[in-house]
Amino acid sequence: MVREPDVPVIDPVLTARPPKLAMNTVLDAAARFGVRADSAHDLGSERDQTFMVSSAGEPVAVLKVSNAAEHPDTLDMEALAVAHVTRVDAGLAVARPLLVVGGDPARPADHRCLVAAGGSEHWTRAYDLLPGHGRHDPRLLDDRALGEWGATTARLSQALRGFIHPRAIRTMPWDVQHAARCRPMCASIADEAMRTMVARTLDRFDEHLAPRWPMLRAQVVHGDLTIDNALVDDHGAITGIVDFGDMSHTALVADLGPVLDSLCIGRTGSDLLRVARLVLDGYQRVTPLESAELALVGEIWATRLAVGLAIASWRGAIGLEDPAFAERFHESTASILEGLLAIGWASLAAELGGGAAPTGAGALVARRHAIFGPATEALSYDEPIEMARATGVWMFDTTGRRFLDAYNNVPCVGHGHPRVAEAIARQARTLTTNMRYLHAGAIELAERLVATCPAPLDTVFFVNSGSEANDLAWRLSTAFTGNTGGLCTAFAYHGISSAIAPLSPETVLSVAPSTESAAPHVERWIPTDAYRNLHTDSAEFVGALARLEARGVAPAMTILDGVLQSDGVLDLAPGYVRELHALSHAAGALWVADEVQGGHGRTGEAMWSFQRFGIEPDIVTLGKPMGNGHPVAAVITRRDIAERLSRDTVFFSTFAGNQVSMAAAHAVLDVLDDERVLPRVAAAGHALRTAVRRATAGHPNIGDVRGMGLANAIEVVDDPITKTPARLHAAALKNAMRHHGVLVGTTGPHGNVIKVRPPLAFTEAEVALFVDALSRSLSSLAAP
Ligand code: PMP
Repeated sequence: MVREPDVPVIDPVLTARPPKLAMNTVLDAAARFGVRADSAHDLGSERDQTFMVSSAGEPVAVLKVSNAAEHPDTLDMEALAVAHVTRVDAGLAVARPLLVVGGDPARPADHRCLVAAGGSEHWTRAYDLLPGHGRHDPRLLDDRALGEWGATTARLSQALRGFIHPRAIRTMPWDVQHAARCRPMCASIADEAMRTMVARTLDRFDEHLAPRWPMLRAQVVHGDLTIDNALVDDHGAITGIVDFGDMSHTALVADLGPVLDSLCIGRTGSDLLRVARLVLDGYQRVTPLESAELALVGEIWATRLAVGLAIASWRGAIGLEDPAFAERFHESTASILEGLLAIGWASLAAELGGGAAPTGAGALVARRHAIFGPATEALSYDEPIEMARATGVWMFDTTGRRFLDAYNNVPCVGHGHPRVAEAIARQARTLTTNMRYLHAGAIELAERLVATCPAPLDTVFFVNSGSEANDLAWRLSTAFTGNTGGLCTAFAYHGISSAIAPLSPETVLSVAPSTESAAPHVERWIPTDAYRNLHTDSAEFVGALARLEARGVAPAMTILDGVLQSDGVLDLAPGYVRELHALSHAAGALWVADEVQGGHGRTGEAMWSFQRFGIEPDIVTLGKPMGNGHPVAAVITRRDIAERLSRDTVFFSTFAGNQVSMAAAHAVLDVLDDERVLPRVAAAGHALRTAVRRATAGHPNIGDVRGMGLANAIEVVDDPITKTPARLHAAALKNAMRHHGVLVGTTGPHGNVIKVRPPLAFTEAEVALFVDALSRSLSSLAAP
């Protein structure tokens, strides 16, 4: 390993004295670029000398006299970079170096000439003038200007993205990647409190930022886009960028350090972060930052401030800095650094968009109850989990603990699937509006959905949730049939709307178990329980129809979740469902296939669960997995059914069919195809059931292991002979599995069925881990 030298190894321009050219030398130098001038005004510069040269009182050019230690190749790099930027983004006003008289524009070296002064020689360049005025007070920048500063910073980096030059690899101490080299300079900071602040920031750099630096996106950046290096219009937006002298190859996000330093001068308290966020918003309008970059931008900003303080103190101590300048710089810079340190590193990252700081599950439980009240469903598990992130089939809580997700069906193709996440993000940046404008995304998605269904289903409505899909199915059914009744399974769940709540007995019965019927227009039937060999024929359904008829109600629709999640994950015989379908039609009801649970490949056999029964539904409703977590849902029906509704109303819903939802839903379908998800689901489900059966064989409390694809159930009973549902035992098992790192739920009318319904990213590879947690959980429950 290479040891960092004790003495800072830094660019020699930092220790060489700035040049001191006499006026007539400056004017002579200007003439070599063809600039006729009669006066020159020193603009002040840290390590070079910069002049505004004028003719008859009118500024005509800027002359920059470099430090004697400056290597000419570095100056040529600047000329090449400016030419590159101009080529890539002609709208960016960058100061272009002028050619020496008779020079060749293709030769970067023809943009400089050597000038002798005070016994040394200095490379000198002249620049054309840019519009706008300099030295703007950053406190006067309005919010729009702040955003534009961010955007211009990003545009400049974008324009430099493809630029490379050997001289860009250099050790500039104010380039944050070299912050550690400033450590010895801290001894020059006279003020003890300031010295401590700088040391604390450099400690953080060493411990946290430096190890992460190598994974940040890197390129050549301008490196010093400050208020001093920009010309601005009256409201502070950048009209010209000068001084490419600090360019280096470093982390892309490091370019924001000097911008934030400079724009926050004179800002305090919460305004500091507000300003930074507006600048970042502007930046991300052009170049979205990666999570790792957002998490570190606050530290980069602080480090740049600390480095600035160390360098200025050190240069002051060795007589290279004007003490009055150093003093002013110290005051403003130290006050920003103090503000950032007071916020704390984790909060600073969170405030700048680097992810929320964890709150602690304990405190949140009470706050959740206080703010949501008693009607909101309770949290899962005896020890609730505050989730922080998830990927594929893995979820991570805020302490970093990993859970195998065998419960969540919404992230159908896996948590955070890049295809879906990117599609959503890209579309959100591009356009999101409503169905009143033409856009191919919604039309093509509808066409894709229709192509997966039997031919008569040719018309699509987009909505925002499963409840809305079923609600619309109800409106379509009642309008089409003219009937008012509904049929659903005994413990069904289909949604929250006023029309659908009566068809969702699960929610009512879980609060008031003895409720007979939710509403007079609804009847429930108990579906086949193959494990107990109950209700294997249609008698239950026939009874429900008869009860409706007895009340003088004709049915408008029968609704069935093809995987019966709420009723305990039941595997119905196709012949049984076909008979119910025929009986419904005979009674005048439409058949609604609720695919919110069973759709999008969950069964591993077909795209939709109704396909396993060989029936042709009148209406199909989709939801949950359709957008992999993004809220989007749909209704697919026949044209004659849709036409009947059109006689009564027009259908429009603000968010329905918006471009972002459509992009998410397209991405899900694409991934289902590309990853060949269906056969994978079939194989994973089969392997899971086989392994669970093997591991629990003979266990007195495991009555049945069943399922289709990745809709699976483990039924917990008191004993295998009586098959009495064991609700408490199931709840204990669910909680034990959570403590063994696997997430499952409970379901069924008796709450005794362990619901194993993972994202479809669950593969055979996860089966062993699942079974191990199950076995260990069962053993822990059996122990006295
Ligand atoms: N139908 C079924 C079968 C469901 O499981 C659910 C949700 N659990 C819904 C409809 C309602 O969907 P949402 O929660 O999106 O309104």
